[in-house]
Amino acid sequence: MPFVVTEACIQCKYTDCVVVCPMDCFFEGPNFLAINPDECIDCSVCVPECPVNAIVNAAEISPEQQHFVALNRELSMRPDWKRISQAKTPMPEHEKWAQRKDKLPLLQIDDKIT
Ligand code: SF4
Ligand code: SF4
Repeated sequence: MPFVVTEACIQCKYTDCVVVCPMDCFFEGPNFLAINPDECIDCSVCVPECPVNAIVNAAEISPEQQHFVALNRELSMRPDWKRISQAKTPMPEHEKWAQRKDKLPLLQIDDKIT
């Protein structure tokens, strides 16, 4: 099963994850990253790179995060979400946001990418 980016990633963009992906299958939105499930080869090397444990196997995702399986597919295939394979500066106050739960309402789909 492909790997999935979950809620903890919202407002992060540490992007340590994208550097190690052999398939370059991360896609970037305004404040979240998504994995293209058709390109992911399930290698799991991105998992330990994420400091907030946002990346999980779709087969092991918690019921609370289940909707992120469909969201990763949908968002990674949007024409305005671009492939990202190089690290960039994290988002402002990412350390504060890393501690926050229930960030889904903050997910931005089609605003300008920072
Ligand atoms: S390292 Fe984790 S939280 Fe940061 S952009 Fe990658 S998946 Fe998102
Ligand atoms: S599991 Fe492997 S192929 Fe899939 S997103 Fe992570 S690093 Fe890329």
